[in-house]
Amino acid sequence: MRRLDQLLSSLGYCSRKEVVGLVKAGRVKLNGVPLTKHDVRVDPHTITLDGEALEAPDGLLAMLHKPVGYVCTHSDGEGPTIYELLPAQWLDRNPAVTSIGRLDKDTSGLLLITDIGTLVQRYTSPKADVEKTYFAELDRNLEPPLVEAFAKGDLMLRGEERPCLPAKLEIVSARTARLTITEGRYHQVRRMFASQGWHVEKLHRETFGSHTLGDLAEGEWQMLELPANVKL
Ligand code: URA
Repeated sequence: MRRLDQLLSSLGYCSRKEVVGLVKAGRVKLNGVPLTKHDVRVDPHTITLDGEALEAPDGLLAMLHKPVGYVCTHSDGEGPTIYELLPAQWLDRNPAVTSIGRLDKDTSGLLLITDIGTLVQRYTSPKADVEKTYFAELDRNLEPPLVEAFAKGDLMLRGEERPCLPAKLEIVSARTARLTITEGRYHQVRRMFASQGWHVEKLHRETFGSHTLGDLAEGEWQMLELPANVKL
């Protein structure tokens, strides 16, 4: 149970003060009956605002198809941000939504978005062991020994002291490949190829854990179900 004004403001609908006006106008209902007080404690799942159930009252998880050219930071100094592609109300939630990990400005593909801190940790902690699959276009023809080089688990990235964990490389065509990794180091895929002398010309993330972009269009987002055992 949560206090109504606190609930609506934390979901980004309006300020706590503005809830008073919404209630007075009869726009907030509990099981179809208009509420008369803004400070009552309610079950978020029984409330409607203007006839609509509240959006993601237990926390939000969505996927975004990030286009090339967008940055995953909140500041727009380096170009448009992914947050411009999301509903403004999500940014007014408290906590506000954030991406789970990041993609480079030049990388497209699947980005998870959430306002649940424990989910960010769960998916990004070094122990998380979440598989991410990338489709890469390279500057020259791939060679079969690369598969073994990535699989061995001794590939060193420049400036790092620990080798990368084993990664699965599938050569798709002469200059394209699918790479599955479980870590999330800075520019990892580009640096892995660079360590072997290849330059990644295009990079696209197809999957993140059990999530797949499917036919979600570039720049579009889609709400996802929360994992069953998520701790709020
Ligand atoms: N690896 C990269 O090099 N870039 C990304 O955006 C993600 C993984």
